[in-house]
Amino acid sequence: MKSIFTTLVLLMTFYANAQNITLIELPYANNALEPVISEKTIELHHGKHLQGYVNNLNKQIAGTPFENMDLVEIVQKSNGSIFNNAGQVLNHNLYFTQFSPNGSNQPKGKLADAINQKWGSFDNFKKEFNSESTSLFGSGWTWLSSDKNGNLIITKEMNAGNPVTNGLNPILGFDVWEHAYYIDYQNKRADHLNALWNIIDWDTVSNRYQ
Ligand code: MN
Repeated sequence: MKSIFTTLVLLMTFYANAQNITLIELPYANNALEPVISEKTIELHHGKHLQGYVNNLNKQIAGTPFENMDLVEIVQKSNGSIFNNAGQVLNHNLYFTQFSPNGSNQPKGKLADAINQKWGSFDNFKKEFNSESTSLFGSGWTWLSSDKNGNLIITKEMNAGNPVTNGLNPILGFDVWEHAYYIDYQNKRADHLNALWNIIDWDTVSNRYQ
């Protein structure tokens, strides 16, 4: 009896741990970001692509030391396929929660000050961020991050890369994988990037800069 009970507890623990990475819920309706991001793109990007990364990651970390780590730690300590899936879950969690149909147009508070100090103006920052995003070859991400001293930096990351690997704090991320925009903008990546500024939730993004 005891061994059956122990086996059951172990199985339940395994199951619980194996489910510890979950698909984030969107803080808006699937069609709320139209016309900048269509309902169809949200359905596929969140419901299929991100769900796929979540499922793959849970399978891959089951029974490994990674299953007891939080997402950032997994990204910082893994490589190969686990890194790719964990990086993409972290990237998309930050990405999907930085939008709002009622987003304010401008950064706020300390972040606004830091952007003005580094780039002279918000418009100059946007130009630089767009330029880095359009020139990224292939699939990847552009990030605004801060270092330990609060200095802002724009980096380009290939594929599933996230700035936490280099000890940075990611604040704002643009997904330049074609799956993020191809249905709505086809090959016009720059048009998609320009439109994204209209739905940034600067309250949420500014709060990431501490
Ligand atoms: Mn994506």
